[in-house]
Amino acid sequence: MEKVIILGSGCAGYTAAVYTSRANLNPLLLAGVELGGQLALTTDVENYPGFPSGIMGPVLMQMMKDQAEKFGTRIVYELATEVDLSRKPFIVKTHDAVYDAQALIITTGSSPKKLNIPGEKEYSGYGVSYCATCDGAFFRNQDLIVIGGGDTAMEEAIFLTRYATKVYVVHRRDSLRASMIMQDRAFKNPKIEFIWDSAVTEVLSEDKKTVSAVKIQNLKTKKEIVKSATGLFVAIGHNPNSGLFKGQLKMDENGYIITDDHQRTNIDGVFAGGDVQDHVYRQAVTAAGTGCAAAIEVERYLSALDHAERSKHS
Ligand code: NDP
Repeated sequence: MEKVIILGSGCAGYTAAVYTSRANLNPLLLAGVELGGQLALTTDVENYPGFPSGIMGPVLMQMMKDQAEKFGTRIVYELATEVDLSRKPFIVKTHDAVYDAQALIITTGSSPKKLNIPGEKEYSGYGVSYCATCDGAFFRNQDLIVIGGGDTAMEEAIFLTRYATKVYVVHRRDSLRASMIMQDRAFKNPKIEFIWDSAVTEVLSEDKKTVSAVKIQNLKTKKEIVKSATGLFVAIGHNPNSGLFKGQLKMDENGYIITDDHQRTNIDGVFAGGDVQDHVYRQAVTAAGTGCAAAIEVERYLSALDHAERSKHS
């Protein structure tokens, strides 16, 4: 039986692995399908403390993985397909194996919703971004596009005006979903212009390397325009990767796992951290922070369990 299984290989998962392996808990980490999580899909990371010159996302994730393995974390490249949290030890199934564990740390992350339009995938990381705070600073004095009408889109558009010459917000309807205060701020910002009732239908590149323009269609008139822009920020929401735990763990209405401020879920011995639990900050460093907290709590949980077991036999 495993003492602790960590599900997920993003910042939160690797940090939990570093802490639990240093605590001699001999963790097993199931890496899932997206090895390295969302950071593995970005280019430069400039806001992770300790790297004043920035670091490439995939490099940072490789370093975290190496650090976790250095202390003895066993990483298996499998995806959990089923969990049973109704019994102890907990059961985790993958396509190839069945594991049981005394404690679980869930760090399965979230995935930004995609537009699924031509060019989106090709230029992801080369002009197409899903995170303004991560990538905004690379677009100084340029024209940018933000897609979406919610709070994230407004927040990202406002944030991007620090760098951009102009930010065009393309929204599929003629009114926003964002809170009034965010709408107000966006409307008052002279660098933000709205393109209503419209959808970006294609990402274009002159040099076939980076984004140079997008095709935008007015959904009412069907008229199409090409708008020059070097960055396209897709802010149409995130999906927490929590489907595996539905019906077993408490979640909010958007599927984010609910924890207390000790990263504990509603099931004793099951902890969660990172973007599957945090819908507010969604930063690499905050994910690492909650992964660390979950690991420390697991250590406490297991030692209390051990203590209780020993008292029973003495
Ligand atoms: P939301 O689901 O609130 O908004 C998503 C937006 O994207 C909507 O305007 C939606 O359009 C649009 N959209 C969805 N799918 C598509 C698509 N395929 N093509 C084009 N547009 C699309 O997500 P957010 O990430 O903005 O917010 C999530 C939650 O987090 C919310 O509860 C929000 O309030 C909260 N939040 C709060 C913040 C704050 O308070 N500072 C900051 C960020 C988020 P439509 O409106 O037509 O459905």
